[in-house]
Amino acid sequence: MTDQKRIIVIGGSAAGPKAAARALRMDPEAEIIMIQKDHDLSMASCGYPYYVGGFFDDRNQLICTPTGVVRDPQFFFNAKGITAKVDTEVTEINKKKKRISCINLLTGVTETLDYNKLIIATGARPKMPPIPGTDLKGITTLQSMQDADFLRKVRDEGLIKRAVVIGGGLIGIETCEALQLAGIDITVIELLPQILMFLDWELAKILESHVMSHAANVITENGVAAFLGENGVLTGVKLTNGTELPCELAVVAIGVTPNVKLAADADLAIGERGGISVNEYMQTSDPDIYAVGDCTEQNHLITGDRTHAPFGDLANLQGRVAGENAALGNSVTFNGTIHSGICKVFDYSAGSTGLSESNARKLGISDIEHVVIAGPDKPGFMGGQILISKMVADKKSGRLLGFQCIGLGDVSRQVTQAAMAIQGNMTVSDLINLDLPYAPPFSLAIDNFIANAHVLENKLKGRLKGITSIELKKKLDNNEEIFIIDTRGPDEFEEMRLGIGERLIPLGAIRNRLDELPADRNAEIICFCKISLRGYEVALLLESKGWKNVKVLEGGIMAWPYPREK
Ligand SMILES: Cc1cc2nc3c(=O)[nH]c(=O)nc-3n(C[C@H](O)[C@H](O)[C@H](O)COP(=O)(O)OP(=O)(O)OC[C@H]3O[C@@H](n4cnc5c(N)ncnc54)[C@H](O)[C@@H]3O)c2cc1C
Repeated sequence: MTDQKRIIVIGGSAAGPKAAARALRMDPEAEIIMIQKDHDLSMASCGYPYYVGGFFDDRNQLICTPTGVVRDPQFFFNAKGITAKVDTEVTEINKKKKRISCINLLTGVTETLDYNKLIIATGARPKMPPIPGTDLKGITTLQSMQDADFLRKVRDEGLIKRAVVIGGGLIGIETCEALQLAGIDITVIELLPQILMFLDWELAKILESHVMSHAANVITENGVAAFLGENGVLTGVKLTNGTELPCELAVVAIGVTPNVKLAADADLAIGERGGISVNEYMQTSDPDIYAVGDCTEQNHLITGDRTHAPFGDLANLQGRVAGENAALGNSVTFNGTIHSGICKVFDYSAGSTGLSESNARKLGISDIEHVVIAGPDKPGFMGGQILISKMVADKKSGRLLGFQCIGLGDVSRQVTQAAMAIQGNMTVSDLINLDLPYAPPFSLAIDNFIANAHVLENKLKGRLKGITSIELKKKLDNNEEIFIIDTRGPDEFEEMRLGIGERLIPLGAIRNRLDELPADRNAEIICFCKISLRGYEVALLLESKGWKNVKVLEGGIMAWPYPREK
C-alpha cells in the first residue's frame, strides 16, 4: 500500500455509498474502495414496492441520480473518484493485518486488499419462518433488487391470481398494496393481533379496515404453519388454525436480522440485539473499523436501551458520520434513534415516532398520559383531509414520549414535528404555543399537532376526562350502565352512526333536553361527535350542571376502530 490513506467500504446500497462519498469529501486525497456483492449500486430499496406496484416503470429510476444518471461503477469513479467493485463479495476481514479478502462472484477471481480504515455496511437479511416448504417456487421476500425484479415480472405477466403476504409490518403492507394494484387477490397474514406494530392497536385496526376496504384481506392472530406445494411449486399456505389458503405467490415480510457474519467471524463485538456493536462515532470494537446501517444496533434515545432500527434515513445519517470519522479521525457522532417511521397504506399514510402507549407499557414506563384526537389537516374549504393521531407523554414531567398519526391528510408533517419535539426533549406545555407556519392551503390556525398537545394538556390538568374506544368497548361488552350521547345533528346521525346504544342530543339542543339525562349526578355519561369537539363542549356543560362522571370519547366516530352500525 502507498502512503495514500485507503478506506474500504463493504456494502454499496444505502449506508455504504454515503460513507464512501462523505469520506472522500472530507479527505479528497484518500483512496476509497467500495465493494458490493450485488450487481447494482445505491439502490433505493424503499422504492421497490412502488416499482412493483407500477407507480413508475423505469427500473433505472431506483438506481439513478436526480438528474437521471445511473449510479454504476463508472459513475462512482468519474463523478466521485470512488472505485466501486460490484458482483464482489468480501469473504474475510483480517483485523490484525488490516486486510480484507474478496471474490468476484462472476469470474471467481479472489483478491486481498489492505486498508487503513474499514467501514462495514452489509445491511440486514430477511427472516424466514422455520416451517416446511420454504424452498418451493413462488416464495419470495422483497428485500433485494432481484426480489423487486421478480415481483415486477409477476405484475407485468399478470399470470398470478392469488397471493399472500406473510407479515403485516411496513414492508408487508406496502407489498400488499403493490400486489393489489397488480390485480392480484391478496391476503395479509399477521401472527400478532394487529398489523403495523409501531402503532397502538386502535389506530392499527382503523388501517386494517382501510386495507380491507381496498379489496385486500387481512388475517390477524394467525401464523403460517406450512407452505403447500405440488411438484416443487407453491399452491397454498396452511395457517396455524388449520385453514388452507390457495395461492401461487407468497411474499415473506416478517422482519430482518442484522447481517453480521463477516463482523462476527472477525471477532468484532456483536450487541444484545444481534447488530454490530458501535459507539457514537459508529466505531466497532476495533478502532480502525466502523459499521453503519442495518447491520448495526444503536441507542434508543428515549429508553437508553440498545435497539435495531433498520431504516434508510438512519443508514444514510450513520454513513455520513462514519465516513467523516474514518477520513478525519473521530470528530462527529450519531447518538441514536427514536424509531421514526412512515408508510403508505393505499390512500392513507401511517407514521409514528418515539414510543407508542403499548411499547411504553411493555418497557415498564407506566406513568404516562395519552390522548387520541381526530381532525382535518387544513380547512375544509381547502380540501382538508382527516388525521387521527395519538400523543403519549410522561405524566409527571409532561415530556413528549411518542406520537402516531394516520389518515388521508399530511401525516408526514405531523410526525416530523413530533420527532423534532421528542429529540428536543420538549414537554406538552412547550408544544401548546408552538409558532408553526399557517396559511389555509397548508394547515390550520391551530395545527393538528398543537391541538393534540392542547387536549393532552387538558387531560394532564384534569380538565378533560377522556375515555378511549377500547375502554368504552369493554364497558359495552360488560353491559355496564352508561349513558352515551351523540352530540351531532340529525342529518349526520342518519348518514353515519356507531349504533352502541347512544342517544342523539345535538349540542345546540342539550340545554333544553337535560331532563333526558340520568337524574343521578354520579351516573357515567359519555359524549362524542364526529371528532369529539362538540362532545367536549357538551361534557363541559354537563359538568357545570352538576354531573360528576362525564367523559369524552377520544377521537369520536372517526377514531372508532370497531364496526359501526352505519
Ligand atoms: C421494500 C423495502 C422498503 C423499505 N422502505 C423503507 C422506508 O420507506 N423508509 C425507511 O427508512 N427504510 C425503508 N426500508 C429500509 C431501508 O431500505 C434500509 O434500512 C436500508 O437500505 C439499509 O441500508 P444499508 O446500507 O445498511 O443496507 P442494505 O441496503 O441492505 O445494503 C447492504 C449491501 O451490502 C451488500 N453486502 C452484504 N454483504 C456483503 C459482503 N460480504 N460483501 C460485499 N457486499 C456485501 C449487499 O449486497 C447490499 O447491497 C425499506 C427496505 C425495503 C427492503
